[in-house]
Amino acid sequence: FAYSDNYLIDVKFGVIVDVEASRAIRQAEVGAAKTMIERTEERFGLKPERLVGDTAYGAAPMLNWLVEEKGIAPHIPVFDKSKRDDGTFSRSDFRYDPTGDVYHCPGGKRLGTSGTVHEGKTLLYRASKLDCDVCPLKPQCCPKEPSRKIPRDIHEHARDIARSIAGTEGFEFSRHQRKKIEMNFAHLKRILKLGRLRLRGPQGAQDEFVLAAIAQNLRRFASLVARPPPAQALRSA
Ligand code: SF4
Repeated sequence: FAYSDNYLIDVKFGVIVDVEASRAIRQAEVGAAKTMIERTEERFGLKPERLVGDTAYGAAPMLNWLVEEKGIAPHIPVFDKSKRDDGTFSRSDFRYDPTGDVYHCPGGKRLGTSGTVHEGKTLLYRASKLDCDVCPLKPQCCPKEPSRKIPRDIHEHARDIARSIAGTEGFEFSRHQRKKIEMNFAHLKRILKLGRLRLRGPQGAQDEFVLAAIAQNLRRFASLVARPPPAQALRSA
């Protein structure tokens, strides 16, 4: 049985703020991130301004929770499956207008939705068959369908915000900070030998992970407060 060691880390100082053991599956790891954010706010009154993470945290419900419920900026790459590779228009070729809640297609027509949520998470925006029938762009748009439809996640707004952050200077800085932080996980396996746990069950995993985080934080605190040796102090003077 495998457990994941999830950390909530202050990326500025490299200090571990919370620890949560979870099953080694994406959904459980995302749940652990939420638990840690809530717990840290409750215990210490600390709430991150931004969350830096990989695509595992980029699913629409998690982004929505961060943006809408917590007011945290997602510095997380969005995993986008809407890109088409058969030469026809992708969803990104259609422009969403939030005021009218419609998409505008490359042919200048509007695609509206009935508001029905499919499979609990998707709205469909449909073009009029009358428009598509006479459109010269139809072969590049919907060659095998009577008209084009665009699926939109009910949390797409949060994904749009994450997309707008991706590629900015701030996002690149966060990515650089995350790379440095990842050393903690290499250290867990290589130095603290946590590739294998000694205690059993989820509580055993939690206890070992907390002890490992304490050891890592002590090392970090030591490096943050340690004075440089005299020779180095002279050089930097
Ligand atoms: S085929 Fe329909 S949806 Fe596609 S560009 Fe033409 S009018 Fe717009």
